Amino acid sequence: MLKKIVGAILPKKRKPKKQMGTRHAIKLAIHNHSAIKVLEHLHQAGYEAYLVGGAVRDLLLGVQPKDFDVATNATPEQVHQIFRRSRIIGRRFQIVHVMMGADTIEVSTFRSGGKVKQNEFGRIMRDNAYGTMEQDALRRDFTCNALYYDIRNQEVIDFHTGLADIAAKKLVIIGDAAERYAEDPVRMLRAVRLSGKLGFSVDEATATPIASHAKLLRKEPVARLFDEMMKILFSGCALGCLKQLHLLGEDARIHPLFTAMFQAAAATDKQPEIGHLALQQTDARLRENKSVSVGFVLAALFWGQLEKRWLSGQKRGASPAAAMNEAINSLRDDMEKGWGVPQRYSATMREIWALQPQFAYQRGGRPFRLLAQTRFRAAYDFLLLRGQVSDELRELGEWWTKFQYGNEETRQAMTRNAPQATETLGDGSMKKKRRRPRKKKKSVVSE
Ligand code: ATP
Ligand code: MG
Repeated sequence: MLKKIVGAILPKKRKPKKQMGTRHAIKLAIHNHSAIKVLEHLHQAGYEAYLVGGAVRDLLLGVQPKDFDVATNATPEQVHQIFRRSRIIGRRFQIVHVMMGADTIEVSTFRSGGKVKQNEFGRIMRDNAYGTMEQDALRRDFTCNALYYDIRNQEVIDFHTGLADIAAKKLVIIGDAAERYAEDPVRMLRAVRLSGKLGFSVDEATATPIASHAKLLRKEPVARLFDEMMKILFSGCALGCLKQLHLLGEDARIHPLFTAMFQAAAATDKQPEIGHLALQQTDARLRENKSVSVGFVLAALFWGQLEKRWLSGQKRGASPAAAMNEAINSLRDDMEKGWGVPQRYSATMREIWALQPQFAYQRGGRPFRLLAQTRFRAAYDFLLLRGQVSDELRELGEWWTKFQYGNEETRQAMTRNAPQATETLGDGSMKKKRRRPRKKKKSVVSE
């Protein structure tokens, strides 16, 4: 009787189809209770649900995953009905974000990959046709990402060669590589990131078509590209990913941030580069679970492009500060509109950059005023970074370190004996600058 009642309350199960794929008894130690709860709730509601993707891959590699993905035969609406704190997101590809405690678990419905809508280049425009787990496995990107974990019987289900490829530390795309990149060009960036992050070699057939298809990335929405680049830069293995950029070919003019990343990748010990140094620091900080500033890293990566404009402004006779403001303003529109840099980051970048010319003024009251700026610390760290590629700036950085940590007496003596700013920057328009009302200068700095 009870069974009958329960059966009546439970949503109609889809007739379970016989699943192919090989099952392997492997117990994975999932430390995330939210992911387990989501899986259990879906099971209790009568649906199939598995842990999938990067989480299974990372657990097999002995790494704690940073996020958890769940695949189920429940539709997004059905998932949403089960979890009060959830929302359906995406158009092209609908998934459900389930908020559980402090975590957000991504729940996606098995895709059939059958009735996808493609544009004239083969790009998938919509994929919301639902199917079986086996079909779902086929439309995932790499074999190591197409493993499903069943928490009920502790089995890993492998439809491709995922387990063997993980053991061989090899990134292998599922299906025909060229076709898969045309369907979704971002998969090429995922190949760069995942091979760099996991230390995997890229299978030849997976790697070969990337260089000739990389230009397809230019047609991707800039926000999606920017997101993917952020994942590369803040993966904790940015330097490893930079080494894999060669996959995209020599001339992959995808996005100015990529150009900057290529420059950073080309740095050597003899020829250090500020973007490279910033990423080295970022990787180290993330390894130690320390916070990192996106604006700071982007300021370093785009510094080369800004510096060119800054120097040419100075050559045209503008003072360092005026030329810097011009350079920042000319880059601003490109950055926020064309390149998809969110304003919250570009504001930090501008503040860090705008303070750079101010470090040259070591006399009188100016150093004290600079020290009191809210962005002083970030700008000073940036100066030290610049000092790693220029001896002259290294000395200037050392002066500021001493000034910052010195007592009042030391500071007064330092500002009395310091050289003129003009000697450091070759600024020929100091007088003009001094006459400017202070208020205006400040507003540029805090922009
Ligand atoms: P990580 O979370 O460690 O960055 P991940 O592989 O889990 O890596 P997610 O973006 O979380 O990356 O994606 C989850 C899973 O969704 C992937 O493992 C893969 O199976 C699938 N997936 C993600 N993006 C794509 C794509 N562009 N094409 C096909 N499958 C994808
Ligand atoms: Mg993931």
